[in-house]
Amino acid sequence: MTSALAPTVKLLHGAQMPRLGLGTSPMRDGVDTVVAQAIDAGYRLVDTAFAYRNEELVGRGLKASAVPRDDIFVTTKFNGQSHSIAGAQQAFADSARLLGVDYIDLLMIHWPLPAQDQYVDAWRGLITLLEKGDVRAIGMSNFKPAHIDRLLTETGVTPDVNQIQLNPGVARVATRAYNAEHGIVTESWSPLGAGSDLLDEPVITDLAERYAKTPGQIVLRWHMELGLVAIPKSSSLERLRANIDIFDFALAAEDVAAISALDRGESAATDSDTSGH
Ligand code: NAP
Repeated sequence: MTSALAPTVKLLHGAQMPRLGLGTSPMRDGVDTVVAQAIDAGYRLVDTAFAYRNEELVGRGLKASAVPRDDIFVTTKFNGQSHSIAGAQQAFADSARLLGVDYIDLLMIHWPLPAQDQYVDAWRGLITLLEKGDVRAIGMSNFKPAHIDRLLTETGVTPDVNQIQLNPGVARVATRAYNAEHGIVTESWSPLGAGSDLLDEPVITDLAERYAKTPGQIVLRWHMELGLVAIPKSSSLERLRANIDIFDFALAAEDVAAISALDRGESAATDSDTSGH
């Protein structure tokens, strides 16, 4: 059963990225089935990472689906031990082998790890992979504007995507504005609040009732209204289907604003200067 496909956004280096995808952390056993079910339900973007230790099973899910590989936007990330030019090449080779693909749509540096101070070389490695055609887009996760500024100064190459923790309670206003100014697409991780009480907030449940949608659909629609890409995780077939079934309605501007008022500010976000792997 396929619902309407998510619209896509054109990235700086030319790739077309679906606006809604499947997050696969922390799924391991059974994630192949979930990936295949998600693709069958209309998902065309799958997010994984070397750190999730599920790339091989995610790859099995990709192969199990009836949809051709070229129609699916496969994204993964690498850890700090790969923060060098050669390390990024090796990370690509390892992830591509585990996933069973010969190119990766979007490869990301998972965390900046500023104390290690090697993310500029990791970025140079990604630029090489892009030039060789091994990846279609390059980006990062958890980078603050200051980290990206440094990449721009040292290499002149702007990322396609910055994937950050982002939901109505952690709305990342400054990082979103920085990304938009530079043409970088912002992708939201933990878009539903990762099992917190976000979906029980009265503003969300009231809107769910008014729009006759689920709280999850209201929050995911908020991401869409803000021009973001979102990657909700679900291992329930019912919620997988509901989470992508958000392209037949729109939130009014005042409702978007009411949801945005849940923001607890930057201090509510995981600090990527001191966290990560
Ligand atoms: P999330 O997608 O915000 O929330 C997932 C949780 O919400 C799960 O417990 C899921 O349970 C539940 N859920 C899903 N759909 C729901 C719905 N419609 N109604 C109610 N509950 C629902 O959080 P996340 O998994 O932390 O983030 C999503 C993805 O972002 C991850 O899978 C991963 O790919 C990525 N991520 C990236 C980073 C990074 O550093 N780059 C960090 C964290 C996550 P069920 O499975 O039971 O439905």
